[in-house]
Amino acid sequence: MHLSTTTLIIGAGPFGLGLAAYLQSRRHDYQIVGKPMEFWERHMPEGMLLRSNTNWYIDPDHQWTIDRFLSVHYPSRLPTDPISREQYIGYMNWFRQQADINVTPHYVRQLRQEDQSFKAELANGDTVSAQHVVLATGFQYFAHLPANLLALLPTERYQHTCDAVDMAAYRGQRVLLIGGRQSAFESAALLAEAGARHVHISYRHETPRFEEADWSWVDPIVERMADCPSWFRDLSAEEQEEYRYKLWAEGRLKVEPWLENRIRRSEISLHPVQKSYPLLYRLITQ
Ligand SMILES: Cc1cc2nc3c(=O)[nH]c(=O)nc-3n(C[C@H](O)[C@H](O)[C@H](O)COP(=O)(O)OP(=O)(O)OC[C@H]3O[C@@H](n4cnc5c(N)ncnc54)[C@H](O)[C@@H]3O)c2cc1C
Repeated sequence: MHLSTTTLIIGAGPFGLGLAAYLQSRRHDYQIVGKPMEFWERHMPEGMLLRSNTNWYIDPDHQWTIDRFLSVHYPSRLPTDPISREQYIGYMNWFRQQADINVTPHYVRQLRQEDQSFKAELANGDTVSAQHVVLATGFQYFAHLPANLLALLPTERYQHTCDAVDMAAYRGQRVLLIGGRQSAFESAALLAEAGARHVHISYRHETPRFEEADWSWVDPIVERMADCPSWFRDLSAEEQEEYRYKLWAEGRLKVEPWLENRIRRSEISLHPVQKSYPLLYRLITQ
């Protein structure tokens, strides 16, 4: 089958679906392809909690909000409770239905430019011609395993956290997590709760603070950028660096306070300020 459209959105995660809703409500012609919420379904562990609060809904028209979804489907949930991965996937599926977004659930196998338009070939053999293409394929393709670290590890004895989602598979095992931010700490809590024998977390920096991230200052900046897209580019290099650092520090120097009690348990050991991998050698050879 061959389809023709003005805008082709490749990727049906939160951002692809949010853009689809925007185009749909303004009656623009578009097609969206990809497996809905696949990254969240397949590459995040069951039981994971989000750092984002309910203000991070995806509807550009502010109609189908996370609060609205939760009040109907989880009426006993407290406003201060973190959102779970399962609730967020439920919200996005509900949002897709409410906004009436029809996703073609196939991967794009190849994308070519032809004269003034693009031609995409889907995994099922269908083709789509489009004047504009939006890539919303997320960051699953950017998972990085440093070569110097891999050289130390026996094959088939390691996983990237993107793939380490079945925590029950680690029951009774000793696990070393390398990295010391939210994802590593939450993985450690989930592993210990799923019955891992012992979990070590090794990281180069000091232990982050267990403190709620404050993103309240970000919204006004986003508004400024929406009003004036060159706002950030027009700042001086020092001002840009200041914002970059502030954003980095908010996300990286703090981990969520609801993790603290789950981390402070005898099956989990923290190893801050590890500049090389002596701990790794010791654990592998034990
Ligand atoms: C452990 C963890 C916790 C996180 N917690 C939060 C959080 O609390 N709050 C938050 O906002 N973000 C969080 N994130 C980040 C989150 O992943 C992104 O915010 C969000 O998923 C980005 O959405 P996206 O639509 O860009 O991409 P994704 O959700 O990655 O979706 C990508 C889509 O592209 C599709 N796709 C890929 N390749 C192709 C192809 N060739 N053809 C067609 N389709 C394709 C996939 O099927 C999928 O539908 C977390 C990430 C991780 C790993």
